[in-house]
Amino acid sequence: MTSQRTRDRLIERVREKGITDESVLKIMRATPRHIFLDEALSHRAYEDSSLPIGFQQTLSQPYIVARMTELLLAAGPRERVLEVGTGSGYQTAILAQLVERVFSVERIRPLQEQARQRLRHLRLYNVHLRHADGGMGWPQRGPFDGILSAAAPEVVPQELLDQLAIGGRLVIPVGKKGVQQHLCVYDKTEDGINEQKIEPVLFVPLVSGVVA
Ligand code: SAH
Repeated sequence: MTSQRTRDRLIERVREKGITDESVLKIMRATPRHIFLDEALSHRAYEDSSLPIGFQQTLSQPYIVARMTELLLAAGPRERVLEVGTGSGYQTAILAQLVERVFSVERIRPLQEQARQRLRHLRLYNVHLRHADGGMGWPQRGPFDGILSAAAPEVVPQELLDQLAIGGRLVIPVGKKGVQQHLCVYDKTEDGINEQKIEPVLFVPLVSGVVA
């Protein structure tokens, strides 16, 4: 159930849904997803669905991970990337193999600790983790040429836009609770911020404060 054939089938499904970036598909094919889940759920790791990781949080759906990564990379290679919401660490692992350095912030300490072990197991040493409220970004490590958020704010935090470098791109789900969220892309140019609404999505909310 965690065989290469099962993984290949997932990648084909993701491709059928419209993902075209071969570098993203290649890394997803080579990265195990089952190690980011509790053993009781690992048999579902290669379904194209989001799955629970405890603390009312979810491991994002593979299609969505692929879509967000593809969008982040579409405007050119990214060196310094901030991720808001490490969660299981799966998206972090994908990013770490496609950009130079990943800075990832998580507000729930036990999730962060688990993610740290998994990333170490995969020998992904270009990832820096921080236990903090990612809605504030990570100002000491910015500016970033890419920011990706796995949690949805009602309104895009100004801090994240401020920490984007010129030419940088923010990929983030946005929307009020109970109202349709949209995956959005914000590009920072010399002249200001350009916004694009990409597609409807369903994400856990961005919550302020931290959980020890
Ligand atoms: N990409 C992750 C998604 C996890 S769900 C994965 O595939 O596993 C979103 C994560 O965002 C949760 O772990 C949640 O705790 C975290 N989160 C929510 N609000 C946050 C905030 N303000 N700062 C940091 N992390 C936050």
